[in-house]
Amino acid sequence: MLLTCIILHRCKNLYLIAVIIGVVMFFPEEVIEEIQQRADIVEVISHYLPLKKTGNLFKALCPFHQEKTPSFMVNPQKQIFHCFGCGVGGNVFTFLMKQENISFPEAVEILAKQTGVDISHLVTGNINKGSSEITPKLYELNELATAYYQNFLNREEGKGAREYLKKRKISSELISKFRIGYAPFRNRLLTYLQKRGYKQELLIKAGLIIKREDGRELDRFINKLIFPLFNPQGRIVGFGSRRLDNQVPKYVNSPQTVLFNKSRYLYGLNFARHFIKKDVIVVEGYLDLLALVQFGIYNAVACLGTALTRQQIRVLQRYAERCIIIYDGDRAGQEASVRELELFIEEDVPVGVVELPRGLDPDECIRKEGKERFIQRIEKADDFFDYKLNFLSQRYDLEKAEDLAKVSKEMISSLYKIGDAVLRDAYIKRLSRKLNIREDSLYLEIEKLDALDRKRQRKKNVSFKASVPTQYREEKILLGLMLTEEEVISLVRKSLKPDEFRNLSIGKIVRFLLSKERRIPLSQLIEKLRKEEIEGLDSLISSCVNQLEESLDLNKKISIASDCIKRIKRKKREAKLLDLQKRIESAEEKEDETLSSQLLEEYQRVLNTDGTDI
Ligand SMILES: [Zn+2]
Repeated sequence: MLLTCIILHRCKNLYLIAVIIGVVMFFPEEVIEEIQQRADIVEVISHYLPLKKTGNLFKALCPFHQEKTPSFMVNPQKQIFHCFGCGVGGNVFTFLMKQENISFPEAVEILAKQTGVDISHLVTGNINKGSSEITPKLYELNELATAYYQNFLNREEGKGAREYLKKRKISSELISKFRIGYAPFRNRLLTYLQKRGYKQELLIKAGLIIKREDGRELDRFINKLIFPLFNPQGRIVGFGSRRLDNQVPKYVNSPQTVLFNKSRYLYGLNFARHFIKKDVIVVEGYLDLLALVQFGIYNAVACLGTALTRQQIRVLQRYAERCIIIYDGDRAGQEASVRELELFIEEDVPVGVVELPRGLDPDECIRKEGKERFIQRIEKADDFFDYKLNFLSQRYDLEKAEDLAKVSKEMISSLYKIGDAVLRDAYIKRLSRKLNIREDSLYLEIEKLDALDRKRQRKKNVSFKASVPTQYREEKILLGLMLTEEEVISLVRKSLKPDEFRNLSIGKIVRFLLSKERRIPLSQLIEKLRKEEIEGLDSLISSCVNQLEESLDLNKKISIASDCIKRIKRKKREAKLLDLQKRIESAEEKEDETLSSQLLEEYQRVLNTDGTDI
């Protein structure tokens, strides 16, 4: 394998920009193997999800689809994971790529760091085609744009922006720490970057430039205050902006790009992550966050104006035990905020809520009341239970039996989602006391919901099974057996050829397995096969392996394998016969007697074989 790369130039003393000559670059196999041997999949995944041990496996709620009963399994012996609900699976690299929405080289980089494997002498290249190839370019562009905006904040043009920051009492330390800038009036960024040789297409992909309907390109941000958006590692993935006139919309962000995914993005996390001990504070806007930081409250992030998403909650869960949401006086007490909090229950993340006085946002509040008072508010945060009950009590008249029933149903609909049985019981006790309703009546309601849920689940399972193709079942089982037992590989080598597999991807994997002298550990196999461009490789392998019962002994496995081989041959024979039949019919239609009698002979021959020598 050739690692051909040249270091072009040092850019702003920040990144070494590497240009890769040739099509793709691979990490040397030894490096990947080394990382895999050191990284434990259970440990890596448990940073993201709470894993529960069951037998030899660990299970969790799948992060890649919505579910209420865990079907996401991690196998520590084989170092793979698989979800029986959505079919996603693979090794530790696959998991990181999917979970973090990153490319293979990026996953390698992260794991290398975590496991202490030194890859600094290798320049990150790319194995995957597509988006990941432009990733380094986009980082580079964002870095250039940030420096450009920062520069304009200090020039004559940036006067209005500077005045605005002064009015909002943002210190100059914060301005430089968060690298706040100003996007000037005219289309300058476009020219600036084009002069440096960047193609328009790339600038559009970076979200810095907009293409108008008449075909003209424009800077996305014009006359705006600019907040660079950092990822948790501190690299710039996009930009937030605020208008300086009083027009709407006040805030405009970068569009979704390869680097920037708004639904999982949290502003300030790159700084906050070093200060989060137990709680993380979540506010809405940039300026709220800056105010908190300025007052020395560092464990805070901003969710950029919209309701928190499930993905954002999952990101926060990695860093904090509990999230404290601070709502503006206007946002608190709204139906939408209760729904948002409901997500925390579903994700099993403890949440606290602080309601600010009407008309005040966190920025105004902390400046008005000071740090001490603000921290007191945080310490007295309501938990979800109190918050929702308060909200409902304000809408319903608890003296009325009907309203009381509605409120208790509403509360139960949340409480029953709590995964922790002890916690749930504690809340039921509290609810019973608060509403003066007997505990068993509340449990009865929970039981009803549980029954409903089970029914729904059953329905879902039925439709799920129906949707999974039973096609290639024997090929999948056989591959699974080959992946776990050396003996099965020898058996297949004696009796089947890779091109006898009707599923092309399985055939490719089998070809690879048969070509190797020694058995390769499963999780490494996925990496070795990545170059073969097999569709759905990771999930295919994990699903094949996971179709097998752990407890099978070798003899049983061999007998299942021989059975699969027979079925594969039989199916191949049936397909062959069907094909011949069609060709005979068409020959007869064309009255081509020579051909049709030739085909008939062939048909007879196949019919008389057991499929081994077609
Ligand atoms: Zn899933």
